Amino acid sequence: MTVTLRVDAARWRTHQDRVVGSTEGVVPVAKGNGYGFGLGLVLEECARMFHERGVAMTAVGTYVESPIALDRFPGDVLVLEPWRPSIHRDLAVIEHPRLVHTATSRSDLTELQGRNPAARYVLEALTSMMRHGMSRMALRGLVDAVGDDPRFLGVTAHLPLGTGHVDEVDAWMRSIPVDRWFVSHLAPEELRTLGDRFPGRVIRPRIGTRLWLGDETAFRVRAHVLDVHPVARGDRAGYRQRQLQGGTVVVLSGGTAHGIGLEAPSAASTMRQRGIAAAEGLLEAAGKIRSPFTVSGMRPAFVEPPHMQVSMVHLPPGVPAPQVGTEVDVRVRTTIFHPDVVVVS
Ligand SMILES: *Cc1c(COP(=O)(O)O)cnc(C)c1O
Repeated sequence: MTVTLRVDAARWRTHQDRVVGSTEGVVPVAKGNGYGFGLGLVLEECARMFHERGVAMTAVGTYVESPIALDRFPGDVLVLEPWRPSIHRDLAVIEHPRLVHTATSRSDLTELQGRNPAARYVLEALTSMMRHGMSRMALRGLVDAVGDDPRFLGVTAHLPLGTGHVDEVDAWMRSIPVDRWFVSHLAPEELRTLGDRFPGRVIRPRIGTRLWLGDETAFRVRAHVLDVHPVARGDRAGYRQRQLQGGTVVVLSGGTAHGIGLEAPSAASTMRQRGIAAAEGLLEAAGKIRSPFTVSGMRPAFVEPPHMQVSMVHLPPGVPAPQVGTEVDVRVRTTIFHPDVVVVS
């Protein structure tokens, strides 16, 4: 029983190379579940880009992820989570010379340097994201204090999704006299605009989603048909013994262990999205939740919420049943997806 992520290596790498080739100084982001591909695999692709494209730095989300990145990637590894002495002080990896730390206060930076005097670092600006970072005044003060410290690699700014953040970055760049910047979520034309406004400054975009998932034709998720059971009207199935209206119960590989049948919290911000959420809520209340599998040309409902490694779906009467052992397409949320097998070919 297998959920397989099939990656068309040539297409995937062509897309990666297109992003890298058109984005100067790009820092590929490899974190979490590796955007569905697995952290190890995306780090190996980063290493490929290091050798073939001169990509000298990659970014991981956390200190816990950094040892695997240092192992697979030969260049610098930027840790996106800020260094916090109270949380990270005892991690051996702090000493690693290829690690680049993110500091968000003067006292944290002082503690970092106490722990590892050679540590290289970026200083983070608190943007409209309100996640991590320093106010403009605090950042300006610290930037002045560190001066031309060779361990200081630049200022970093993390931005909300969507376009329209050029003015915000522009304001930061005007008020902070530093010539190396790391940014996220800026479109290519926004990066060009900033490059034109601030000649002489280096702006390095951190990119994850667009790099790994930007070409949807480069990968496909497939799940095995494990079993097929014709049912009569009134028959019951599943842990919860729900009654069915005839048709076929199809048992498929793929369940909560793979992130299937789970939902990442969704931000329904438009009326249409809220309408869809409401309609799905009604279906759910009626015990019918559309599954993410495509079986016999349709998206059947779950018989019941999926379990660890399998899902049971219901095909209505008249819909032909698939063959046991064949594969079907399944849609996944890439941020919570864990395939059994990744085939890169
Ligand atoms: C995850 C992350 C990124 C990359 O975001 P994508 O949307 O995947 O491109 C960049 N910067 C920071 C600080 C992040 O946490």
